[in-house]
Amino acid sequence: MQIIDGKATARTIKEEIRAEVDAMVSAFQRRPHLAAVLVGHDGGSETYVAYKIRDCEEVGFRSTLVRFEDDVPGNVLFGKIDELNQDHELDGFIVQLPLPDHIDEQRVIESIDPSKDVDGFHPVNVGRTVIGLPSYGSATPYGIVELIKRYQIETTGKHCVIVGRSNIVGRPLSILMSQKSINATVTVAHSRTRDLEALCATADILVAALGSPGFVKAHMVKEGAVVIDVGTTRVPASDTKSGFRLKGDVLFEEVAPKCSFITPVPGGVGPMTRVSLLTNTLKAAKKNIRH
Ligand code: NAP
Repeated sequence: MQIIDGKATARTIKEEIRAEVDAMVSAFQRRPHLAAVLVGHDGGSETYVAYKIRDCEEVGFRSTLVRFEDDVPGNVLFGKIDELNQDHELDGFIVQLPLPDHIDEQRVIESIDPSKDVDGFHPVNVGRTVIGLPSYGSATPYGIVELIKRYQIETTGKHCVIVGRSNIVGRPLSILMSQKSINATVTVAHSRTRDLEALCATADILVAALGSPGFVKAHMVKEGAVVIDVGTTRVPASDTKSGFRLKGDVLFEEVAPKCSFITPVPGGVGPMTRVSLLTNTLKAAKKNIRH
């Protein structure tokens, strides 16, 4: 059994990005520039955005944080998005979700210029991904595929079962895994799937992305399977400084001995999700994708 080290892989990719940025700067090009829009003071969102800004610093990107209070009027937020869309000094930006109830999230996503949508949530980027055109990929699915490629995991003809069909993980991952470069045969499972345990046990590659800690147990996993654990649920813990711990959707201790490869939580998919945003911003700066 081999543990897939997402933290180390993310570090390697960051070094690769840093080298590209250094080369751009040596060639008198400007640094890639990412902006993050943060509305309100949600603890999770504050943390995620702080990480994103820190990641930018690590790889030599310029970053800008745009903050609004919870009660920001919709027209002010949309005005700012418009301004960011027009800003020629800015390669890409994200609007951290979730947003307060009075703001229509889907409208926000669709108001971002697809060529600056480095989160890859705009329908144009989702559509381009579906038909296999170059696009800004949704962060977590791209991070997972990158791990699979870098660990040279065999995917052709393999049965990949993905538990979860959300727009940010399960569904886009199912598209990527079925593409010709990967060639897996994909089944997407969800809360209405029948005989889920038996289905999981048929998977050569099992992806758990449902948000239910310890859901996948040893009897649901085939001997030699590859298991990718996307779940990150905060559970209370008395022995950590923060008072919580992240739990995956896989019962690691009993599942790991049956696997050929497995991702841990934390340190598996999570760091790769963060690095995908950097990869997309670099693509945006290099104008690699024509919209
Ligand atoms: P989500 O939007 O809540 O979707 C969960 C999916 O799982 C839904 O499709 C749901 O089915 C399905 N599901 C829930 N309970 C199920 C059950 N008992 N049996 C079968 N299917 C079930 O969640 P998400 O945003 O995709 O996130 C999933 C997990 O990944 C969460 O723990 C989240 O924190 C984590 N996550 C981690 C990263 C990372 O970077 N590591 C990134 C994103 C998300 P229905 O569609 O039928 O409701």
